[in-house]
This record gives sequence, C-alpha cells and structure tokens, in this order.
Amino acid sequence: PPKVVLDVDAHRLPSGGVVVFIDDISERRRIDQVRTDFVANISHELKTPVGALSVLAETLEDETDPETMRRVVGRMQGEAARASRTIDDLLELSRIELGGERSIEPIRLPDVINEAMARVAELAQQRQVGVSNLMAADQFDDIVVHGDRRQLISALGNLVENGVKYSEPGGLVQVRARYHEGIVELGVTDEGIGIPKRDLDRIFERFYRVDKARSRETGGTGLGLSIVRHVAQNHVGDVAVRSVEGEGSTFMLRLPARRAGERATPDSSYDA
Ligand code: ADP
Repeated sequence: PPKVVLDVDAHRLPSGGVVVFIDDISERRRIDQVRTDFVANISHELKTPVGALSVLAETLEDETDPETMRRVVGRMQGEAARASRTIDDLLELSRIELGGERSIEPIRLPDVINEAMARVAELAQQRQVGVSNLMAADQFDDIVVHGDRRQLISALGNLVENGVKYSEPGGLVQVRARYHEGIVELGVTDEGIGIPKRDLDRIFERFYRVDKARSRETGGTGLGLSIVRHVAQNHVGDVAVRSVEGEGSTFMLRLPARRAGERATPDSSYDA
C-alpha cells in the first residue's frame, strides 16, 4: 500500500492558541523516489557497457595476435554503440517528457506509417522478418493527426521495431489502422515470442525488460516503450497491449485524428 507521509508544523499564536499545519507530502516523496530510482537505473545501464569497455581495453594491452585484436576491437565498438544508443534514447525521452520543443502540425497518417516502416526496413531485412502494411491504398489518405511528426514516427517506429526484434526469422509484423469518430487506432501485430501476463503491466516502465539477455542481444535500451507511452500521452492518446506468450503481441496506439476537412471534436483536438 502507498505510504502516507505527512509534514507537521505547529505555531503558537499571540492569543495563546495553537495552529497546526499538516501537509500531505506523499506524492512529492513518491516523485523523489521515482527520480532517485531512475538515476540509479541510468547509472547501472551505462556502467555495464563502460565496464565491459575497460575490461576489453585491458585485454588489448598485452595482445599481439592481430585476429584477436580485431575481434576485441569489434566488441568494443559494439559496447560503445550500446552506451551511445542508451544516451540517445534518454535524450529523446527527456525531450518528449518536457514537451517544450514539440512542433504541432497536421500530419497525414500515411506519412507517419510509411516513415516509421521505412526506418525499420533494414533491421527487418537483417532479421529476415516481414513487415507489411495492411491498409488499403488511399483508405487513410485523408486522415490527419495533429501533432509532432518526429514524435509520432518515433512512437510507431518503436512498436514496429519491437515487433521485428521479438520475432523469429520468417515471422511477420503487420501494421494496420482503424478510424472511428475522431480516433485513429494504429495496430502493430507480431507472431513473436509474446509477453508473459505478469509482465504486461510493467513493460512501459523505463528500463523494464522481460528478458534482459534477449533485449541486449537485439540492441535494446529498455526505453522504447516508455517513449511510446509518453508520445501517446503528449497527443492525448494512449497505448495498449494484448499478448500471449509464445504466440505474439499486438500493440495499439490510439490518437485523436480527423478526416481532412472535418471539424475537430472539442475533446479530441491536440491543440484545443
Ligand atoms: P527494449 O529496448 O528492451 O526492446 P522496450 O521498452 O521497447 O525495450 O520494451 C520493453 C520490453 O518489453 C522488452 O525488453 C521486451 O521484453 C518486451 N517487449 C516489447 N515489445 C515486445 C514484443 N513485440 N514482443 C515481445 N516482447 C516485447
């Protein structure tokens, strides 16, 4: 159960009476705790590759075999890339959380989908996973989302990328969209490893991973889904997941949208 923390302060009045101030600071304490945990997590996440780098550098010191040297240097590059990805994702997350820099403009839905898919094309090819867009051509041509282009592409791109990362070779990731009364729902479905029920609530937390080894092997930072959730919230939307372990997952990103030319409904407009 959440702990209640009270700040109590008493003052004697000139009249002889006493006033007592009781302030509920539980929420402030909770936020402080989340922040402290986050900093500890970041330190840990960066310590791992930095530690590996230093061990690898040491082995290079007395190494003379060119083949071994090349292998070690390759691993060092991998670790450096990993640290750098974590830093990039952290910067992106903090930019999105602050929300200051966003530029809000009308964006055609097909642009978001095409760009997100293009971003993942190379990885999909490497991992031999198919990615298909199930939307009939021109069906969503006139659907417009008001928002930050970069954030939206990043959110959908992260979902498609996860679909690819957590699929076996030969698997298929499908992207679809549905529009109904001012809400567009983007669905990303894979036939991959799925997510155990007990982890479903936690996967949107920063650095939470079901399988650390798998996330690491696929180059994951553990921040992708928290970026997705923040982007959804910034756009007055949400993200949900359905998954069966061993069968696959579907992530649904819902955003306020409208048909070009349609009037915005008051509660669904990003800039209202
Ligand atoms: P990561 O960089 O580790 O992929 P994310 O924040 O994107 O971090 O995802 C958090 C965790 O959720 C992943 O480590 C993985 O365990 C799980 N996950 C996310 N997407 C999928 C998916 N499509 N299929 C199976 N597991 C997934």
